[in-house]
Amino acid sequence: MSRIACKFGGSSVADHNQFLKIKKILQANSKRKVVVPSAPGKRHSGEAKLTDLLYLCHDLAQKRLALDAPFTLIRERYLDIESNLGLKAGMAQALEAFRKEIENGATRDFVASRGEYLCGLLMAAFLGAEFVEPKETIFFDKTGRIDPKTYDVLGKRMSDVDKLYVVPGFYGVDVKGNIKTFSRGGSDISGAIAARAIHAELYENWTDVSGLLMADPRIVENPHPLDEVSYREIRELSYMGASVFHDEAIAPVRDAGIPINIRNTNKPEEPGTLIVSKLPEVTKYDIAGVAGKKNFCMFSLEKTMMNKEIGFARKMLGIFETKGVSIEHMPSSIDSMSVVVSAEEIGDKTEAILEDLRRILEPDTLEVEPDLALLAVVGEGMSHQVGTAAKVFIALRDAKVNVRIIDQGSSEYNIIIGVDNSDYEKAIRALYTAMMTPNPAFPA
Ligand code: ASP
Repeated sequence: MSRIACKFGGSSVADHNQFLKIKKILQANSKRKVVVPSAPGKRHSGEAKLTDLLYLCHDLAQKRLALDAPFTLIRERYLDIESNLGLKAGMAQALEAFRKEIENGATRDFVASRGEYLCGLLMAAFLGAEFVEPKETIFFDKTGRIDPKTYDVLGKRMSDVDKLYVVPGFYGVDVKGNIKTFSRGGSDISGAIAARAIHAELYENWTDVSGLLMADPRIVENPHPLDEVSYREIRELSYMGASVFHDEAIAPVRDAGIPINIRNTNKPEEPGTLIVSKLPEVTKYDIAGVAGKKNFCMFSLEKTMMNKEIGFARKMLGIFETKGVSIEHMPSSIDSMSVVVSAEEIGDKTEAILEDLRRILEPDTLEVEPDLALLAVVGEGMSHQVGTAAKVFIALRDAKVNVRIIDQGSSEYNIIIGVDNSDYEKAIRALYTAMMTPNPAFPA
């Protein structure tokens, strides 16, 4: 029987009521056989995430300071869930032992991983499920990537299709046998790994929103929900700032052709967003969404006959590489070349880079423009439509937005536009409105 792996994010395991919702969700579909919980998140906006408290405990212990304040909060969270669900999962003893480990110098990754570990123990006790220890089943290689043997080992460990398993998210083990965590938000990756290990038919990612929206609701009023989106589109959207889920969580399931369904634990009746490898022939809209980010800067230089100068682009990029700055885009024309980088990436290196550009490339003109925003209109449907680019630029002209950069990859499912930071919101709204005409070929 094919199974479904379900990852539940921090807000989905924030208290005992959320645990009860999870049980119902699992009961509603008997294929849901693997549960990957995060550490408890915030119950309300004023509260700290458990993982943040754990990092704080570690930092205090490193400075030989008392852990009491954060540790008491951590303790209460777990003991509350345990007692409210009427469980006897040995939390008090486990927490006491854990506190000693922190005080005795446990590593930062170990301390952080206990958020998911303890939550996993509670979840397994509550669901009557088998607890699967990531320390024995999820392996990092020397370079910090997932060792492919993980899929085999974890798959074998969960081979009984009738059993329910709980695999805590966020961590595994490194080549030396030490606990190692993923980067923040990494339980999404654990969920994807678990889905792949059991050859799941679906990876459900349960969170506190009913999937993705086609634009940022802080900028566009009531944007449409995104029903179905391809892996490629989601990659572009998340790169351009749409907060989806962890970037690295896509690869394990995409490579195995497993779709991802983003669902809302608090509104399980809603279908959420389905991320698939291939979209249907006809989709309702030609685009998946409009996203963007502020704060980029562009280094532009002009030099007559630069197109004849062999190695010019390499030298230009080499300057950014030597300074450890990763670049985003490289718009160019016959005699000019620009490099767009994020302001965060460039930090205080602007002057040093300008100096190298001047010295090594001897340009006729050289300027740097800060305060740029990049916007992306993303959609595989755009590639077989005539006039998409026209729609984009007419919309921006009508909104009186000055376009500073245009960049369309050869893939044609992404048009990137650079505008002034101050035009960002206006441009997003204009593009969203212009691009959201339903496809006439889509069945009503
Ligand atoms: N608990 C970890 C974090 O807060 C991992 C996760 O929730 O995905 O980053």
